[in-house]
Amino acid sequence: MSESRNFIEEIIDGDLASGKVNTVYTRFPPEPNGYLHVGHAKSLCINFGLAEQYGGKCNLRFDDTNPCKEDQEYVRSIKADIEWLGFKWDKLLFASDYFDVMFDCAVKLINKGLAYVSDETAEEIRQRRGSLTEPGVESPFRNRSIEENLQLFYDMRDGKFEDGAKVLRAKIDMASPNLNMRDPVIYRVLHATHHNTGDKWCIYPMYDFAHPIEDAYEGITHSICTLEFEDHRPLYDWVVVNCDFPAPQPQQIEFARLNITNTIMSKRFLKRLVDEGKVMGWDDPRMPTLSGLRRRGYPAAALRDFCERIGVSKANSEVEEGYLHACVRENLNTYANRVMAVFDPIKVVLTNYNGSEILSVEDNPNADEVTYRDVPFSSEIYIDRADFALVPPPKYHRLKPDGYVRLKGAYIIHCDDVVLDDNGEVVEIRCSVVPNSKSGSDTSGVKVKGVIQWVDANTCVKVQVRKLQSLLNDVVDGVTDFTLRFNENSMQVVDAYVEQSLLKAKVEDKFQFMRVGYYVLDKDSNGSNLVFNEIVGLKDSFKPNK
Ligand code: ATP
Ligand code: MG
Repeated sequence: MSESRNFIEEIIDGDLASGKVNTVYTRFPPEPNGYLHVGHAKSLCINFGLAEQYGGKCNLRFDDTNPCKEDQEYVRSIKADIEWLGFKWDKLLFASDYFDVMFDCAVKLINKGLAYVSDETAEEIRQRRGSLTEPGVESPFRNRSIEENLQLFYDMRDGKFEDGAKVLRAKIDMASPNLNMRDPVIYRVLHATHHNTGDKWCIYPMYDFAHPIEDAYEGITHSICTLEFEDHRPLYDWVVVNCDFPAPQPQQIEFARLNITNTIMSKRFLKRLVDEGKVMGWDDPRMPTLSGLRRRGYPAAALRDFCERIGVSKANSEVEEGYLHACVRENLNTYANRVMAVFDPIKVVLTNYNGSEILSVEDNPNADEVTYRDVPFSSEIYIDRADFALVPPPKYHRLKPDGYVRLKGAYIIHCDDVVLDDNGEVVEIRCSVVPNSKSGSDTSGVKVKGVIQWVDANTCVKVQVRKLQSLLNDVVDGVTDFTLRFNENSMQVVDAYVEQSLLKAKVEDKFQFMRVGYYVLDKDSNGSNLVFNEIVGLKDSFKPNK
């Protein structure tokens, strides 16, 4: 945890010091209308992170007050994603569990003369709302009696009106400089079946009314949301105060949402990609959903690290995609085992080597505890075409005619001869193993600068590798619209040959394919038909400032 405090921590420190609150209680309130994306990770890290940091609690509350768009699949995936990130919620709640509480709050407001039933259409309400420069016009229904309002509100609940025929409005101030305070609608008629409450209700509360009630009812101390709700805070406070919730009343705090270059942060657009079959599903490894990033091989710890490093701010900005990749790469460099893979094989025949052996090769030089794996070796191996040059440029340290190179974890070899086809393409390289040059016990005296990866031709496994790019092309000429930037070539599937040890890998196991990049075993693997997703390359120019 960094020493310097962000502005939310400063508020909380102040509230604890003044005695306004004596514990920290936050909540994460997703709408179950899609999968969580990397932007939500930011909110999760703030809400659950603060609770952890202050020894408090954080609830997971599904904001399901809108009956039309929700789905059980989303509820399931959201829970799984939060658990994957390593967070534990205190209570698991649904906003719809509070529909009775919210109804009672509305009745309370009516009884206080602070809410009225209006027959205006949505369009009429909009027209009378005024603008930033003009005050609003009072509703012709604003001065209905409390008795009439109560009766009409009960009639709304009892299904006596069509959708849109009546609304309940808070009676605040039509001349307020804040448009949200100009008698906002707090309940609407909607004959829709709700996934949780079924057909019990045909009126549903609006978000701005429901959210503060949920927070206050649960005893949330700090209700953290994104910046676009800043103008809604006076209404939030108005609801809490006028519904008579006791102190300490929840405090809404806004922060800037996370944006990342070339990254889609809209559930609506992500859903479109899924519905239109542009991707393999919500967990497609190219998707910026948490399930997608997980399948892509991003470690949960790297995502949390990223959220921690970018910090919390009040100013909207866009973070470079490369920063996230750098956090992922740093984590994998520490934790991913190294293995060998060859994408574009050339056969190398070791003419003076007979039989075969099992070499013991170190898994990860950065691990706290050194482990080794078995790697078969024989007189026929494959190396990558990129590691051989018939006509080498100066200072070429890989394999070349009459040159030496070390095979990682094995021997130094010398290139004796090259077999070409009719087109002059290299089809086979004939080499000899330098005596006494085995890795770890090399007494050959031969000095080599290059070390290359290889796989044993007899035991290697042919696998599929998905090379992945962003789903969005770069912004060109200021065109930021996601729909116009879709990258049709974001996935390319190629073959590779990997060492036998990978047959033991499990789905989500992550590896460094030495000298190539990081890869994760995908769930589409089946028996010995292995499928890997590219996670990130080995190097990037991006330098995160710590
Ligand atoms: P979307 O616009 O993608 O549907 P949303 O804000 O409607 O996102 P919710 O399910 O309502 O999604 O979000 C749950 C929580 O996550 C909210 O508190 C919201 O503010 C926060 N959140 C959503 N997107 C981001 C983001 N890009 N950065 C930070 N927090 C976010
Ligand atoms: Mg939302």
